[in-house]
Amino acid sequence: LEKAFSFMIRIRVPGGVATPKQWIETDRMADQFANGTIKLTTRQAFQLHGIIKSNLKRTVKEINDAAMDSIAACGDVNRNVMCNPNPHLSEVHAEVLKLSEDISRHLTPATGAYHEIWLDGEKVETSEEEVEPIYGKTYLPRKFKITVAVPPSNDVDIHANDLSFVAIVEDGKLVGYNVAVGGGMGTTHGDEKTFPRVADIIGFCTPEQAVDVAEKVVLVQRDFGDRTNRKHARLKYTIEDRGADWFLAELNKYLGYDLGPVRDFEFEDNGDRFGWVTDHRGNHHYTLFVEGGRVVDTPGYPMREGLREIAKVHGGDFRLTANQNLIIASITDEERPGIEALLEKYGMSKSHERSAMRLSSIACVALPTCALALAEAERYLPTVITDLEEKLEELGLRHDAITIRMTGCPNGCGRPFLAEIGFVGRGPNRYNLYLGGGFAGQRLNKLYRQDLDAADIMSTLGPILEHYAKDREEGERFGDFVIRTGYVEATKQGADFHEN
Ligand code: SF4
Repeated sequence: LEKAFSFMIRIRVPGGVATPKQWIETDRMADQFANGTIKLTTRQAFQLHGIIKSNLKRTVKEINDAAMDSIAACGDVNRNVMCNPNPHLSEVHAEVLKLSEDISRHLTPATGAYHEIWLDGEKVETSEEEVEPIYGKTYLPRKFKITVAVPPSNDVDIHANDLSFVAIVEDGKLVGYNVAVGGGMGTTHGDEKTFPRVADIIGFCTPEQAVDVAEKVVLVQRDFGDRTNRKHARLKYTIEDRGADWFLAELNKYLGYDLGPVRDFEFEDNGDRFGWVTDHRGNHHYTLFVEGGRVVDTPGYPMREGLREIAKVHGGDFRLTANQNLIIASITDEERPGIEALLEKYGMSKSHERSAMRLSSIACVALPTCALALAEAERYLPTVITDLEEKLEELGLRHDAITIRMTGCPNGCGRPFLAEIGFVGRGPNRYNLYLGGGFAGQRLNKLYRQDLDAADIMSTLGPILEHYAKDREEGERFGDFVIRTGYVEATKQGADFHEN
């Protein structure tokens, strides 16, 4: 008798944009093949969990039939390209979304293996070099993550990614992109040679150069990344070891031209904007808070059913945010009353009236689904926030956004090292607490306490929140406050992440 293996499939959604038909198909497959839920990931993808081995091939085929795929959703290649989904910047958004799709297409492995294995495609005899002009025979030293951001929103968290393009908009027009390289999250407990790192912003390119720049950054990392140690193989270590100036000089050689000087820009936050907005064309968009990114029906809150009913009548699209939330986008005046009625009927119309801390939360899958998890995250963070909310209410902080993130291990899928309050699992009911991340995702946090259980979390954070409510300066963010008042030292770059 074979063991009852079950699998997770990650469905790639470049730029996070899915049609209503794709939503309906994903929802159907969640019932038919998976555990009846859809996970919206921190990289704007869908995950289906609990797919048994005998259903795996059929699920991949049906994903393909719905014009989606899971190619390069894993592996040592470029992953899902993330993009700012903010629809009220729609003219610029359309351009940056196109860039994210172009990069995604350009860097998708060309091998026919996926089709041969999963879709019964015909086997074609070719050498890897012919098939993979970018990745070659050996692919990349490690996975590679790309984002495109539109300031003032850093919702894609550029500093958690290998390569990012930051849109520079002048007089309402997109003039090009600042290029950021060498960010990343993953670490290993107890191994100080591993650390998270914020990206270096090394130059500027025009919109026409951006795909070429993406390719050449990948090629430099392909040729210089460490292939002897997987824990040291991401681009962040190549840049930390050799320096950002070296990387820029090498990149310019690969490009055959020089990147321009970095242009000014400012990020205000790395969260989502919830509720209704209307864009300059008069279309409406509703950002729905999806706690932990889990689309599921629970007693009293049939969210998955509600979204299925909305998808049946919706003429626009769905946009997955990098913060695990969902935008029901491009709703016309005529459609809006019908969609509002469905949001009301299924209890979703007030999703954005949660505490500002809850709306600023991210949790990775962790237990019981992720094989690497050491502790709970998605199933536990809501309880931590509920306990903290009592304190926040009492202190008058309910409407103050404080970013809070929890992951089940230090791989960092939920980007915990950029949060103002970050929890990283060490073992069952044991978490390291990190404080002092930048509110706009611009600064790493630092370890404050180790191995906290539920009671310790409350007794540790409660007094700090009280101190913050009492002594913060005008407009001061929690992450800045804990540094100013000496709870932690500011982490300037990955290399001093472990220094206390
Ligand atoms: Fe799994 Fe760790 Fe990633 Fe969470 S951070 S999903 S526990 S690998």
